[in-house]
Amino acid sequence: MITVTDVRKNYGDFVALDGINLDIPSGSLTALLGPSGSGKSTLLRSIAGLESPDSGIITISGEDVTGVPPQKRGIGFVFQHYAAFKHMTVRDNIAFGLRIRRRPKNEINDRVDELLRIVGLDGFQRRYPSQLSGGQRQRMALARALAVDPKVLLLDEPFGALDAKVRADLREWLRRLHDEVHVTTVLVTHDQEEALDVADRIAVMNRGNIEQVGSPDDLYERP
Ligand code: ADP
Ligand code: ADP
Repeated sequence: MITVTDVRKNYGDFVALDGINLDIPSGSLTALLGPSGSGKSTLLRSIAGLESPDSGIITISGEDVTGVPPQKRGIGFVFQHYAAFKHMTVRDNIAFGLRIRRRPKNEINDRVDELLRIVGLDGFQRRYPSQLSGGQRQRMALARALAVDPKVLLLDEPFGALDAKVRADLREWLRRLHDEVHVTTVLVTHDQEEALDVADRIAVMNRGNIEQVGSPDDLYERP
């Protein structure tokens, strides 16, 4: 579903991506796991079109996306520090992408209701982002990214800024959401426990290379 073939990216003399080859199957939840500076974000941003590789090819659903801008790649993106519209309610934040696409009102309402339920924010739709906890805010971000039915959901350390208990809770939500929506998902994380907990496939990165790829059980001994 996503293929990455011999993708390279340098920042000056620094090799951020050193010839990456990776297939990301349709419907999988794949984690890019590795230490800080190993190239995870650069790879994710290259898939998103926020970064241009120096060479190599990325395809999404069979289409070579070289030169295709982010908004035409069929992706939803969630960052660590989510920029919500602070003067819009939770409901309006989630509906935003559908409104600018001028979808019919009933369709927007039904879709937003469904998403509010999936991320457990039914009771919070009239609140403003400042009235949510950090975990609730990231759940809103997930709902907003999913609203427009992206082919691919890209998550860059989405839970990184939160404390351990909230992170564990969000992993549970992400897992549940993925089971329900089945959208192809790529999660960047430096947290092995997080990758083991939520991903069905893990690509281990180090110094701009992918060192191994497999299911959590293929890669790690578990007690
Ligand atoms: P993260 O916390 O995800 O590792 P970074 O702090 O490495 O993020 O990078 C944040 C942003 O700054 C990214 O958009 C990245 O491309 C950019 N960036 C990182 N390092 C440099 C650098 N040395 N020079 C310029 N931009 C950088
Ligand atoms: P990770 O996500 O694994 O922490 P990144 O892909 O963010 O790694 O970054 C890999 C390396 O590339 C880091 O050392 C970072 O400082 C550097 N880097 C990232 N973006 C830029 C940029 N725009 N300019 C210069 N260096 C960058």
